[in-house]
Amino acid sequence: MSKKKKKNKTLLSGINESKELQMLLKDPAGVIPAITSKKGKIKGDKKTRKMVRLVCPHCIKKGNKMKVKMKPDGNGNMRCQICGDIIKPKFFSKEEVHSRTKKELEMISQGKLAAQSLGLPSSNVQDIALTYMAVHKYENTYNNIAEAVNKKDRIKRNKKNKNRGYQSYGSWS
Ligand SMILES: [Zn+2]
Repeated sequence: MSKKKKKNKTLLSGINESKELQMLLKDPAGVIPAITSKKGKIKGDKKTRKMVRLVCPHCIKKGNKMKVKMKPDGNGNMRCQICGDIIKPKFFSKEEVHSRTKKELEMISQGKLAAQSLGLPSSNVQDIALTYMAVHKYENTYNNIAEAVNKKDRIKRNKKNKNRGYQSYGSWS
């Protein structure tokens, strides 16, 4: 029986329904500061550390403000101090997002068929179908987020330029 249990183990097995994970998923930036050191080291057992790394939003809440927990990695990217993920400063283009998503879906689709035809437990088949649905949905989510951030950046830049313009006029007079 224990052998069978081991066979069914997935990445999130055991922590899928745990209260800790539900709390983390609800408010990761709010919960993570309580279980990490100032430098971003996660406290707790192996299971907790893995869970936090998977859920990490790369920033934490400090009062009413969000504090980004990233440092330059020396290659022009940022590295998260909590989970170690590397974050690129520029968003991918819609074309790039589409081609990356397509490749990812190809891989998941293969697993969908294999899991079903191997007769793996329905929880595995379901996990893969849910992953497929989530990745498919994420293409749109990513593009919306990228657009929102780029728009915010544009507004910021325009404001700066306007102020600079005023300053220039001031210095000429
Ligand atoms: Zn992170």
